[in-house]
Amino acid sequence: MPVTDQAFVTLCTNDIYSQGALVLGKSLRNHETSRKLVVMITSQVSGRMRAVLGKVFDEVLEVDILDSADLVRLSLLKRPELGVTFTKIQCWTLTQYTKCVYMDADTIPLRNIDELFDREEFSAAPDSGWPDCFNSGVFVFRPSLDTFRRLLQYAEDNGSFDGGDQGLLNSFFSNWATADISKHLPFIYNLSISSVYTYIPAFKQFGSEAKVVHFIGTPKPWNCKYNPQSKWVVEEEALNGEQHQLFLVHWWETYISDILPLLTEQEEFDGTD
Ligand code: UDP
Ligand code: MN
Repeated sequence: MPVTDQAFVTLCTNDIYSQGALVLGKSLRNHETSRKLVVMITSQVSGRMRAVLGKVFDEVLEVDILDSADLVRLSLLKRPELGVTFTKIQCWTLTQYTKCVYMDADTIPLRNIDELFDREEFSAAPDSGWPDCFNSGVFVFRPSLDTFRRLLQYAEDNGSFDGGDQGLLNSFFSNWATADISKHLPFIYNLSISSVYTYIPAFKQFGSEAKVVHFIGTPKPWNCKYNPQSKWVVEEEALNGEQHQLFLVHWWETYISDILPLLTEQEEFDGTD
Protein backbone atom coordinates (compact mmCIF):
# COMPACT_ATOMS: atom_id res chain seq x y z
CA MET A 1 0.00 0.00 0.00
CA PRO A 2 1.40 3.45 -0.87
CA VAL A 3 2.06 5.65 2.15
CA THR A 4 1.36 9.22 1.11
CA ASP A 5 2.37 11.06 4.27
CA GLN A 6 5.96 9.78 4.34
CA ALA A 7 8.77 10.48 1.87
CA PHE A 8 12.37 9.94 0.94
CA VAL A 9 14.00 13.36 0.47
CA THR A 10 17.20 14.34 -1.32
CA LEU A 11 18.87 17.56 -2.41
CA CYS A 12 20.69 18.78 -5.52
CA THR A 13 21.76 22.37 -6.10
CA ASN A 14 23.04 21.89 -9.66
CA ASP A 15 22.81 19.61 -12.71
CA ILE A 16 25.90 17.66 -11.68
CA TYR A 17 24.54 16.51 -8.32
CA SER A 18 21.17 15.94 -10.04
CA GLN A 19 22.72 12.91 -11.74
CA GLY A 20 23.25 11.40 -8.31
CA ALA A 21 19.74 12.29 -7.19
CA LEU A 22 18.32 10.59 -10.31
CA VAL A 23 20.21 7.34 -9.67
CA LEU A 24 19.15 7.44 -6.00
CA GLY A 25 15.49 8.10 -6.83
CA LYS A 26 15.33 5.47 -9.56
CA SER A 27 17.02 2.90 -7.31
CA LEU A 28 14.45 3.54 -4.56
CA ARG A 29 11.72 2.96 -7.19
CA ASN A 30 13.44 -0.17 -8.56
CA HIS A 31 13.38 -1.58 -5.03
CA GLU A 32 9.65 -0.82 -4.90
CA THR A 33 9.44 1.73 -2.14
CA SER A 34 5.92 2.47 -0.95
CA ARG A 35 6.88 6.01 0.04
CA LYS A 36 6.83 9.31 -1.90
CA LEU A 37 10.04 10.63 -3.46
CA VAL A 38 10.96 14.30 -3.06
CA VAL A 39 13.93 16.21 -4.46
CA MET A 40 14.79 19.70 -3.21
CA ILE A 41 16.50 21.83 -5.87
CA THR A 42 17.78 25.38 -6.08
CA SER A 43 17.61 27.92 -8.90
CA GLN A 44 20.79 26.75 -10.68
CA VAL A 45 19.20 23.45 -11.74
CA SER A 46 18.34 23.73 -15.46
CA GLY A 47 14.83 23.47 -16.87
CA ARG A 48 15.72 20.29 -18.73
CA MET A 49 17.07 18.65 -15.59
CA ARG A 50 13.96 19.66 -13.64
CA ALA A 51 11.85 17.91 -16.28
CA VAL A 52 13.90 14.71 -15.96
CA LEU A 53 13.83 14.85 -12.15
CA GLY A 54 10.04 15.12 -12.47
CA LYS A 55 9.97 11.73 -14.25
CA VAL A 56 11.55 10.00 -11.25
CA PHE A 57 10.41 12.03 -8.23
CA ASP A 58 6.85 12.70 -7.07
CA GLU A 59 7.80 16.25 -6.06
CA VAL A 60 10.52 18.55 -7.41
CA LEU A 61 10.60 21.43 -4.94
CA GLU A 62 12.62 24.56 -5.47
CA VAL A 63 13.91 25.84 -2.16
CA ASP A 64 15.37 29.25 -2.73
CA ILE A 65 17.17 30.09 0.45
CA LEU A 66 17.11 33.81 -0.24
CA ASP A 67 13.39 34.01 -0.97
CA SER A 68 12.00 31.84 1.80
CA ALA A 69 11.63 32.89 5.41
CA ASP A 70 13.11 36.26 6.39
CA LEU A 71 14.70 34.38 9.22
CA VAL A 72 16.80 32.43 6.73
CA ARG A 73 17.93 35.58 4.97
CA LEU A 74 19.03 37.14 8.24
CA SER A 75 20.92 34.04 9.30
CA LEU A 76 22.62 33.84 5.92
CA LEU A 77 23.72 37.45 6.08
CA LYS A 78 25.45 36.76 9.36
CA ARG A 79 27.01 33.49 8.28
CA PRO A 80 27.27 33.31 4.49
CA GLU A 81 29.58 30.27 4.74
CA LEU A 82 26.65 28.13 5.87
CA GLY A 83 24.73 28.43 2.58
CA VAL A 84 24.63 24.79 1.46
CA THR A 85 23.98 23.71 5.05
CA PHE A 86 20.86 25.82 5.21
CA THR A 87 19.64 24.30 1.99
CA LYS A 88 19.76 20.79 3.47
CA ILE A 89 17.92 21.72 6.65
CA GLN A 90 15.05 23.09 4.55
CA CYS A 91 13.90 19.45 4.60
CA TRP A 92 12.28 20.26 7.97
CA THR A 93 9.89 22.60 6.13
CA LEU A 94 8.26 19.68 4.22
CA THR A 95 5.32 19.59 6.61
CA GLN A 96 3.05 17.95 4.03
CA TYR A 97 4.79 14.77 5.32
CA THR A 98 4.75 13.46 8.89
CA LYS A 99 8.01 11.52 8.68
CA CYS A 100 10.86 11.46 6.15
CA VAL A 101 14.19 9.83 5.40
CA TYR A 102 16.77 12.25 4.03
CA MET A 103 19.46 10.78 1.73
CA ASP A 104 22.45 12.54 0.12
CA ALA A 105 22.54 12.56 -3.69
CA ASP A 106 25.76 10.48 -3.50
CA THR A 107 24.04 7.52 -1.83
CA ILE A 108 22.55 4.47 -3.56
CA PRO A 109 20.25 1.89 -1.97
CA LEU A 110 20.99 -1.75 -2.86
CA ARG A 111 17.63 -3.08 -1.63
CA ASN A 112 14.32 -1.90 -0.19
CA ILE A 113 14.90 0.23 2.93
CA ASP A 114 11.33 1.23 3.80
CA GLU A 115 11.84 -0.22 7.28
CA LEU A 116 13.76 2.99 8.07
CA PHE A 117 10.35 4.64 8.53
CA ASP A 118 9.87 2.52 11.68
CA ARG A 119 12.58 4.70 13.28
CA GLU A 120 12.01 8.01 15.05
CA GLU A 121 13.60 11.45 14.75
CA PHE A 122 16.53 11.79 14.98
CA SER A 123 18.02 8.53 13.70
CA ALA A 124 21.28 8.27 11.79
CA ALA A 125 24.29 5.97 11.42
CA PRO A 126 27.72 6.61 12.97
CA ASP A 127 30.27 8.58 10.95
CA SER A 128 33.18 6.36 9.98
CA GLY A 129 35.70 9.14 10.74
CA TRP A 130 34.38 9.93 14.25
CA PRO A 131 31.82 7.36 15.41
CA ASP A 132 30.48 9.48 18.32
CA CYS A 133 29.16 11.74 15.57
CA PHE A 134 26.49 10.61 13.14
CA ASN A 135 26.94 10.94 9.40
CA SER A 136 24.35 13.34 7.98
CA GLY A 137 24.10 11.60 4.59
CA VAL A 138 21.17 9.40 5.72
CA PHE A 139 18.79 10.34 8.54
CA VAL A 140 15.20 9.91 9.75
CA PHE A 141 13.36 13.09 10.74
CA ARG A 142 9.95 14.65 11.28
CA PRO A 143 9.26 17.84 9.30
CA SER A 144 8.38 20.67 11.68
CA LEU A 145 8.57 24.44 11.23
CA ASP A 146 9.38 24.75 14.90
CA THR A 147 12.41 22.46 14.57
CA PHE A 148 13.41 24.31 11.40
CA ARG A 149 13.35 27.67 13.19
CA ARG A 150 15.28 26.31 16.16
CA LEU A 151 17.92 24.87 13.79
CA LEU A 152 18.28 28.25 12.09
CA GLN A 153 18.57 30.02 15.40
CA TYR A 154 21.14 27.49 16.56
CA ALA A 155 23.16 27.97 13.37
CA GLU A 156 23.05 31.73 13.67
CA ASP A 157 24.19 31.63 17.30
CA ASN A 158 26.76 28.85 17.10
CA GLY A 159 27.67 28.22 13.46
CA SER A 160 28.81 24.73 12.53
CA PHE A 161 32.01 23.18 13.82
CA ASP A 162 32.79 21.69 10.40
CA GLY A 163 31.23 24.48 8.35
CA GLY A 164 28.57 22.12 6.98
CA ASP A 165 25.26 20.54 7.89
CA GLN A 166 26.87 17.58 9.66
CA GLY A 167 28.53 19.75 12.31
CA LEU A 168 25.38 21.78 12.83
CA LEU A 169 23.10 18.74 13.13
CA ASN A 170 25.49 16.89 15.46
CA SER A 171 25.60 19.88 17.82
CA PHE A 172 21.83 20.34 17.65
CA PHE A 173 21.00 16.65 18.22
CA SER A 174 23.88 16.42 20.67
CA ASN A 175 22.54 13.54 22.77
CA TRP A 176 22.40 11.20 19.76
CA ALA A 177 25.55 9.31 20.83
CA THR A 178 24.26 8.35 24.28
CA ALA A 179 20.50 8.85 24.68
CA ASP A 180 18.71 6.14 22.71
CA ILE A 181 20.31 3.20 20.92
CA SER A 182 17.23 2.77 18.68
CA LYS A 183 18.25 6.05 17.02
CA HIS A 184 21.58 4.54 15.92
CA LEU A 185 20.98 3.20 12.45
CA PRO A 186 23.09 0.15 11.63
CA PHE A 187 26.15 1.12 9.60
CA ILE A 188 24.82 -0.92 6.63
CA TYR A 189 22.26 1.88 6.05
CA ASN A 190 25.05 4.38 5.35
CA LEU A 191 28.12 2.40 4.40
CA SER A 192 30.76 4.98 3.64
CA ILE A 193 32.92 3.90 0.77
CA SER A 194 36.12 4.51 2.75
CA SER A 195 35.18 1.76 5.26
CA VAL A 196 35.51 -0.81 2.53
CA TYR A 197 39.27 -0.60 2.98
CA THR A 198 39.82 0.93 6.45
CA TYR A 199 38.38 -2.22 8.10
CA ILE A 200 38.62 -4.96 5.49
CA PRO A 201 37.75 -7.94 7.75
CA ALA A 202 34.55 -6.18 8.91
CA PHE A 203 33.65 -5.47 5.32
CA LYS A 204 34.23 -9.13 4.44
CA GLN A 205 32.05 -10.20 7.36
CA PHE A 206 29.16 -7.72 6.99
CA GLY A 207 29.55 -6.05 3.58
CA SER A 208 27.19 -8.43 1.80
CA GLU A 209 24.38 -7.08 4.01
CA ALA A 210 24.96 -3.48 2.85
CA LYS A 211 21.70 -1.66 2.18
CA VAL A 212 22.93 1.83 1.29
CA VAL A 213 26.35 2.77 -0.08
CA HIS A 214 27.50 6.38 0.42
CA PHE A 215 30.20 7.70 -1.92
CA ILE A 216 31.54 10.23 0.58
CA GLY A 217 34.42 12.52 -0.40
CA THR A 218 35.94 12.19 -3.85
CA PRO A 219 35.62 10.93 -6.48
CA LYS A 220 31.85 11.07 -6.85
CA PRO A 221 30.57 8.33 -9.22
CA TRP A 222 29.51 10.86 -11.88
CA ASN A 223 33.04 12.30 -11.97
CA CYS A 224 34.62 8.92 -12.77
CA LYS A 225 35.33 7.83 -16.33
CA TYR A 226 33.35 4.69 -16.99
CA ASN A 227 33.93 2.18 -19.77
CA PRO A 228 30.58 0.49 -20.50
CA GLN A 229 32.21 -2.21 -22.68
CA SER A 230 34.58 -3.50 -20.04
CA LYS A 231 32.20 -2.43 -17.23
CA TRP A 232 35.06 -0.83 -15.36
CA VAL A 233 35.98 2.60 -14.02
CA VAL A 234 39.13 3.82 -15.74
CA GLU A 235 42.18 5.74 -14.54
CA GLU A 236 41.04 6.56 -11.06
CA GLU A 237 43.79 6.59 -8.47
CA ALA A 238 41.64 7.40 -5.45
CA LEU A 239 39.64 4.16 -5.54
CA ASN A 240 39.64 1.92 -2.47
CA GLY A 241 40.25 -1.37 -4.22
CA GLU A 242 38.06 -3.78 -6.14
CA GLN A 243 34.97 -3.49 -3.93
CA HIS A 244 34.87 0.26 -4.49
CA GLN A 245 35.02 -0.49 -8.22
CA LEU A 246 32.08 -2.90 -7.95
CA PHE A 247 29.90 -0.32 -6.16
CA LEU A 248 30.83 2.30 -8.79
CA VAL A 249 30.00 -0.16 -11.58
CA HIS A 250 26.61 -0.74 -9.96
CA TRP A 251 25.97 3.03 -9.85
CA TRP A 252 27.05 3.42 -13.49
CA GLU A 253 25.02 0.48 -14.76
CA THR A 254 21.93 2.00 -13.11
CA TYR A 255 22.77 5.38 -14.65
CA ILE A 256 23.23 3.91 -18.14
CA SER A 257 20.18 1.65 -18.14
CA ASP A 258 17.68 3.81 -16.25
CA ILE A 259 18.76 7.47 -16.37
CA LEU A 260 20.54 8.10 -19.70
CA PRO A 261 17.39 7.12 -21.67
CA LEU A 262 15.38 9.67 -19.66
CA LEU A 263 17.97 12.39 -20.36
CA THR A 264 18.11 11.54 -24.08
CA GLU A 265 14.32 11.44 -24.36
CA GLN A 266 14.11 14.89 -22.76
CA GLU A 267 16.81 16.27 -25.08
CA GLU A 268 14.89 15.02 -28.11
CA PHE A 269 11.67 16.48 -26.74
CA ASP A 270 13.30 19.87 -26.13
CA GLY A 271 15.05 19.87 -29.51
CA THR A 272 18.73 20.64 -29.86
CA ASP A 273 19.89 23.85 -28.22
N1 UDP B 1 24.99 19.00 -2.45
C1 UDP B 1 24.52 19.66 -3.58
N2 UDP B 1 25.35 20.51 -4.27
C2 UDP B 1 26.64 20.71 -3.92
C3 UDP B 1 27.14 20.04 -2.79
C4 UDP B 1 26.30 19.17 -2.09
O1 UDP B 1 23.36 19.50 -3.94
O2 UDP B 1 27.35 21.48 -4.59
C5 UDP B 1 24.08 18.12 -1.68
C6 UDP B 1 24.00 16.71 -2.26
O3 UDP B 1 22.76 16.13 -1.91
C7 UDP B 1 25.13 16.05 -1.52
C8 UDP B 1 24.97 16.63 -0.12
O4 UDP B 1 24.60 17.99 -0.37
O5 UDP B 1 25.05 14.63 -1.56
C9 UDP B 1 26.21 16.57 0.76
O6 UDP B 1 27.39 16.83 0.03
P1 UDP B 1 28.42 15.68 -0.35
O7 UDP B 1 27.67 14.41 -0.56
O8 UDP B 1 29.27 16.17 -1.48
O9 UDP B 1 29.32 15.57 0.98
P2 UDP B 1 30.07 14.25 1.54
O10 UDP B 1 29.02 13.20 1.74
O11 UDP B 1 31.10 13.86 0.51
O12 UDP B 1 30.66 14.72 2.82
MN1 MN C 1 27.40 12.59 0.64
